Amino acid sequence: MKKAVVCGAGIGGLATALHLKAGGADVRVFEKNDYAGGKMGIFKKSGYRFDTGPSLLTMPHVLRDFFRSLGRNMEDYIEIEKLEISCRYFWEDGTVLNWYSDHERLNDEISDVFGNDEAEGFRKAMNYGKLFYELSNDAFLEGEFKLRNFVSAQGLKNAGKFISGRSMNDVSNKFFRNPKLKQLWNRFATYNGSSPYLSPQFFSIIPYTEHLYGPWYVKGGIYRIAEALVELCTETGIEISFSHRLKHSDSRGSVISSLTFETPGGESTVSDFDTAVLNFTSMQETASDSYFKNDDWSSSGFIMFAGMKSSNEALTHHNIFFSQNYENEFLDIFERQRNPADMTVYVSISSKSDSQHAPPGCENWFMLVNVPSLYSGFEWNSESTKEYSNRIFDKLNSFTYVFDNSVLNSAEFAETFTPLDFVRVYGSEYGSIYGLSSNSLYTLMKRPKNRSAKFSNLYFCGGNSHPGGGVPLVFLSGRITAGLILGNQRTA
Ligand SMILES: Cc1cc2nc3c(=O)[nH]c(=O)nc-3n(C[C@H](O)[C@H](O)[C@H](O)COP(=O)(O)OP(=O)(O)OC[C@H]3O[C@@H](n4cnc5c(N)ncnc54)[C@H](O)[C@@H]3O)c2cc1C
Repeated sequence: MKKAVVCGAGIGGLATALHLKAGGADVRVFEKNDYAGGKMGIFKKSGYRFDTGPSLLTMPHVLRDFFRSLGRNMEDYIEIEKLEISCRYFWEDGTVLNWYSDHERLNDEISDVFGNDEAEGFRKAMNYGKLFYELSNDAFLEGEFKLRNFVSAQGLKNAGKFISGRSMNDVSNKFFRNPKLKQLWNRFATYNGSSPYLSPQFFSIIPYTEHLYGPWYVKGGIYRIAEALVELCTETGIEISFSHRLKHSDSRGSVISSLTFETPGGESTVSDFDTAVLNFTSMQETASDSYFKNDDWSSSGFIMFAGMKSSNEALTHHNIFFSQNYENEFLDIFERQRNPADMTVYVSISSKSDSQHAPPGCENWFMLVNVPSLYSGFEWNSESTKEYSNRIFDKLNSFTYVFDNSVLNSAEFAETFTPLDFVRVYGSEYGSIYGLSSNSLYTLMKRPKNRSAKFSNLYFCGGNSHPGGGVPLVFLSGRITAGLILGNQRTA
């Protein structure tokens, strides 16, 4: 029987552990925090409840397939519901657009707000995204990334499309005339922490898949997924050792021979395993030699968890308040490496769907702004954190037709979470949300594969490795990694 050790109880590590267990392996999980879920965490204060990371679920079939592959029904663990509006978009000049999940309704909305030609452009853009979705599925989403997948007549044709040099923004320019609709399409590049002006056009799969499979909410909050994974571990006999931070690994030749953990009681060393899986890529000694030499890390986030004393009827569950100059915002983040002066603010309010997430008449606002990773050298301290929080409140207040200058007065509290916290809590590289950026095909190729090139018994899973970040892809990475270890990974 294979003996595997999984380090990191994020959803990637837990999914891998559960697949391994289902495949007959003996699995143990070690996690540095005292809770499971990693970025998919939970924060509670004064009667308010917040999800700390992901808020929107897409491609729910991936999750359903995951439960099915373990012989379970997803519905016995979590309840999901489709959102009528994926996101409400606001611009300072008073333009508002509802991104409806119903296709006809969204078409009509785009026609009403931006005109018929733009609605036609939208249909064409979606078809373009579909093309890349089909290519990605074949090439790497369902299996290990292999260059040989492209070595065939069709493969070469596909590769040509992938490496055409067009960016997400080029796709926007191709299909839309209205700058606001371009900005909206470009926003999807931020789903993997990249710049739409740099990241390759095939990320058009992101708006396409969200449109195809819909935006979903997990009743009770998305943290329910992490809780369900822990329940599954308990049911299947996988032990999770919390407060165990992997500190050091020893190797014998090309084999990882032991792992040393920092624990509340001191240190403990584990060596009775034949396979090690890391649900993070931030340990220098286990990373490939060139990994940390990269300088293009995905964006980090500046988060505020605010308890709002009143309810704002103009808002829905997911809201975006756009900056005035999107290109400048991304130049700030990725080129000038500074916090954007004019920022786009995402406000997610789960109490719109789950009233018990906030006291009666109140709302739980999760506010997220994209900021550079700590590679920028920016110093987050109490002063810069306060200053940036105020700038975000000022930004929201500039949408006078929505807030009437009332945002700050309505906040009972606003707890902040900076890029430094991303390092402290999740061990993220430079506080980046997704590890290396997806700003170029070069950095995409540098993303850690699921099987280490350095050690024969070391594997990686999760959002910073193949096939990438976001809840569904992280579940897929768990399946791919476990498949490689168990020897039943399909060769795409
Ligand atoms: C603010 C934010 C918003 C997001 N929004 C969405 C969204 O709406 N939809 C979506 O699909 N995705 C979203 N994502 C992305 C998604 O949350 C992540 O891709 C996913 O949760 C990553 O899971 P993971 O298991 O790969 O990594 P992590 O969650 O980072 O898990 C890694 C685990 O390893 C542990 N660890 C690290 N170092 C050590 C060590 N030395 N020893 C032991 N354990 C260690 C960490 O504590 C952690 O538990 C969002 C992410 C963030 C941060």
